[in-house]
Amino acid sequence: MASQLTDFSKLCVHTLTTKPWDLRQCVENYSAVGIHGITIWRNVLENQNLKEAKTLLDDCGMNVVSVARGGFFPSVEKEKRQAAISDNLFCIEQAATVGAPLIVLVCGADGRQPLEKSREQLKEGILKILPQAKAAGVKIAIEPLHPMYAADRSAINTLAQANKMTEEINDDFVGIAADVYHLWWDNTLEAEIKRCGANNKLFAFHVCDWNVPTIDFLNDRGLMGDGCIPVKQIRGWVEDTGFSGHNEVEIFSDKYWATDQKAYLEKIKNAYLNFT
Ligand code: ZN
Repeated sequence: MASQLTDFSKLCVHTLTTKPWDLRQCVENYSAVGIHGITIWRNVLENQNLKEAKTLLDDCGMNVVSVARGGFFPSVEKEKRQAAISDNLFCIEQAATVGAPLIVLVCGADGRQPLEKSREQLKEGILKILPQAKAAGVKIAIEPLHPMYAADRSAINTLAQANKMTEEINDDFVGIAADVYHLWWDNTLEAEIKRCGANNKLFAFHVCDWNVPTIDFLNDRGLMGDGCIPVKQIRGWVEDTGFSGHNEVEIFSDKYWATDQKAYLEKIKNAYLNFT
């Protein structure tokens, strides 16, 4: 009997979680241990023949969940906003070529202007790339980031803000990536997950943990079970909406990157079964 305890069919690992590995190493090592969900970070696509990458992914039976990351639309400088549009169009093209149905946006922010202005520019940016995304069959997910990143990485900091923006844009191709690391502290989280699900906007679900204490705000994420996030409870809320996508393990960790990555992958599987 296939037990839930050994079911990895909804497990996805972000390539940046195993940062020391290149794309081939990620694909070969994930698939060798029964992990077939993968979100590809663009750093491992640099200088790659994308068609060959697609063949490698197909040969190993990988299911490409998304490409990360696009975004960084807001800037006080017009040239930078235009460069962001070009970069996001390229991101869509990369996603389409490797067979990813979704790109995830780190929305961006510019500390030299109000957050409202950055959100306005973000919306403009999404609307500009939307026609190409639709033509390519690639959806777009806004990922709200923890408020500690509001000054420079994202002017969207709560699921409520992301819900509001996707409701305003109101297009089947624009939804949300919900990440427990960014959202766990929010007392409206359960209600906002419901709202997101009711709108059919929940496109992706990212998991990791919040270390106590956290010693670095970028590269000290924990493995599920290491910290204080009630991952199982949040996953329950997500699945209650009818979400049937992958649980994506996205961990930036200097600590884990310094360890043997194959042993780490086993730890990830264990944490997925026991704490997710
Ligand atoms: Zn995430």
